[in-house]
Amino acid sequence: MTSEHSPEQKPQHVRFDTLLVANRGEIACRVMRTARRMGLKTVAVYSDADANARHVREADEAVRIGPAAARDSYLDVNAVVEAAKRTGSGAIHPGYGFLSENGAFVEALDKADITFVGPPASAIAAMGDKSSAKARMHAAGVPLVPGYHGNDQDDALLKAEADKIGYPVMLKASAGGGGKGMRVVESTEAFQAALDGCRRESKAAFGDDRMLIEKYLVQPRHVEVQVFCDSHGNGVYLFERDCSVQRRHQKVLEEAPAPGMTPELRAAMGDAAVRAAQEINYVGAGTVEFLLDADGSFYFMEMNTRLQVEHPVTEMITGQDLVEWQLRVAMGEVLPLSQDALTITGHSFEARLYAEDPEQDFLPATGTLTRFALDLEGAGLGTDQVRLDSGVESGDVVSMHYDPMLAKLIVHGVDRNAALATLNRALAALDVQGVVTNRAFLQRLSTHPGFKNVELDTRFIERNEATLFAPRQYRVEEYASAALIGLGQLAHECESDSPGIGMTAFV
Ligand code: ADP
Repeated sequence: MTSEHSPEQKPQHVRFDTLLVANRGEIACRVMRTARRMGLKTVAVYSDADANARHVREADEAVRIGPAAARDSYLDVNAVVEAAKRTGSGAIHPGYGFLSENGAFVEALDKADITFVGPPASAIAAMGDKSSAKARMHAAGVPLVPGYHGNDQDDALLKAEADKIGYPVMLKASAGGGGKGMRVVESTEAFQAALDGCRRESKAAFGDDRMLIEKYLVQPRHVEVQVFCDSHGNGVYLFERDCSVQRRHQKVLEEAPAPGMTPELRAAMGDAAVRAAQEINYVGAGTVEFLLDADGSFYFMEMNTRLQVEHPVTEMITGQDLVEWQLRVAMGEVLPLSQDALTITGHSFEARLYAEDPEQDFLPATGTLTRFALDLEGAGLGTDQVRLDSGVESGDVVSMHYDPMLAKLIVHGVDRNAALATLNRALAALDVQGVVTNRAFLQRLSTHPGFKNVELDTRFIERNEATLFAPRQYRVEEYASAALIGLGQLAHECESDSPGIGMTAFV
């Protein structure tokens, strides 16, 4: 899809030979990998907690930007800009999270004449507020979930709107994100109390209590479209990802393409996504998130104005390097491929490996990774089938300061079944010692018959809780203390709480 240049989108030729990556963990390592391949010098930034982190070790140069707390380091605009100036970095890639969707950061870079590898501040602002984004998307003809996103926030009016939409409805904070400030309301009687609660939560989390109301879709799938625009007015979509497997509105397993898509639906969603991006004069990589209803209707939810965690599944099925695309677009080049030249080959899954304990309500875990290895050869798998995007190696310390995601395991196969079989073998071949992870939980998800049968919707985990959560298991410290109490008692507990798991499994 091509449109005329808007006045804001002047073709530009930008030269930079040094790229600063304003992030940490797996995404910093992943961005630097492509930058290096393109002949760029790479600069890492780090907090005191990350002085020996993998992204620091892998960069050509690294700059300390502050203490462990993210707000004093990775979120400190001035510290990052200063680091770029000091190292002669002509461009900054923000990764995801941290400063990636911060308009003030983009403006500071514009002022300092440093290229931001991402969209203009105006595009970030346009999608930052859910209510005004929806108004803008409505004007562009992008389908929305039936609902109310107006400025009038009078209690009686909101309730009348909810009644009109029909229950259940979902209340959402206009300024919300990260799954916060959202509530499902089942009936007109329950509306006022839910509104009060949601407003309080939203005020506390975002300093803003404006609400929007949407029809609550009972069994939707989360299907998002990868879009790309250059500064010459071109826009394409790189197909879709299904991210329906979520826990508390957070994605756990993602796949591309979305199972069951018809070419017509794919084109309709892709066109709507490109229209959404072009409506706000977007430049770079973006993701337009839709809810897909059982009847094939799809509705715009939001646009993420950055590279997503799950972008590798798109890379696996298209054979494209999205970070290379981002860097080329930032250099003022036209998009590497037109829509007609983009194709889907095979199927891909991504599993997110977290340092967290599913048996303890997903409590983040810390410690030293005494071993972190993926034995592909032993599993009979090739590097063309499996990719491990990791921010850690054996010997690294996992602290409690940042997001607990350690790595992403990404697989490719000729079709969904082949890719799923590979995912299961790769998960089994992943050996992580020293820190508790969700690996076994990912295995239970990926071997679940419902998942194999594509019984996908955003409540998949909730619906299958009984089979996805293992019976209580014991950890080393618990065995040790239990051993002190008496081996006899331990044996008894193993029998009563962990049916099917013999003592030998623990030693
Ligand atoms: P956030 O910005 O906080 O992540 P989103 O608006 O993107 O919030 O919604 C997060 C998730 O909540 C979606 O992926 C979906 O699972 C669920 N959700 C959001 N809106 C609806 C809706 N109208 N009906 C059903 N589920 C919804």
